[in-house]
Amino acid sequence: MKSAPKLAQCPEDSGAEVAFAGRSNAGKSSAINRLTGNSKMAKTSKTPGRTQLINFFSVDEHDGMRLVDLPGYGFAKVPLKVKQEWERNLEYYLQHRQSLRGLVLLMDIRHPLTDFDTTMINWAHEAGMPVRILLTKADKLKRGPAMSTLLSVRKALDPYGALVEAQLFSATRGDGLEDLQEQLDVWLLTRFEDEDEITPAE
Ligand code: GDP
Repeated sequence: MKSAPKLAQCPEDSGAEVAFAGRSNAGKSSAINRLTGNSKMAKTSKTPGRTQLINFFSVDEHDGMRLVDLPGYGFAKVPLKVKQEWERNLEYYLQHRQSLRGLVLLMDIRHPLTDFDTTMINWAHEAGMPVRILLTKADKLKRGPAMSTLLSVRKALDPYGALVEAQLFSATRGDGLEDLQEQLDVWLLTRFEDEDEITPAE
């Protein structure tokens, strides 16, 4: 639909959208490609010079359901001022975007819960925004270590309550794909139906 360098240039704040975030290299493009079966989508965000853009993808023909690819964070080369500006933008987006239904936060299963991951979770939590954490590249670990990482991440997330959940994910093997799809259905479709029911009465 649109690539916006600033939140002010985002599409109209109506309908429903789900945002994807994570450190660069966490596997965000691979996950979006696997999810949508469309390798053009996440490639857009990898075009050099576009990494600091928020990319909006329409899921339905009316643009009322959107996937939002947030720039990967953790680029060492980005100047501090740009980084701080972007962090302010992200915080604002998470806390003020009315159509945002949930955040998918991707973390390499071998390096979960970095400082900025935790900052993102805190921002979302303060805004009452549900978060689904994907422990990506789960195929890189054997079943036992993958499960024990999942359990320890869940334990660390315990204080946030039910709005922050974690699951395993592998874009290459397809692990966790159905769980993620079910969550996206709930976020993008359920509230829509609720709104349809509310609208005529207003
Ligand atoms: P992004 O920077 O977050 O968009 O990350 P990418 O999707 O480009 O992935 C970064 C690297 O991790 C690439 O080399 C991918 O091939 C690899 N990768 C991504 N997902 C998986 C996965 O599920 N399993 C494995 N083994 N590698 C993955």
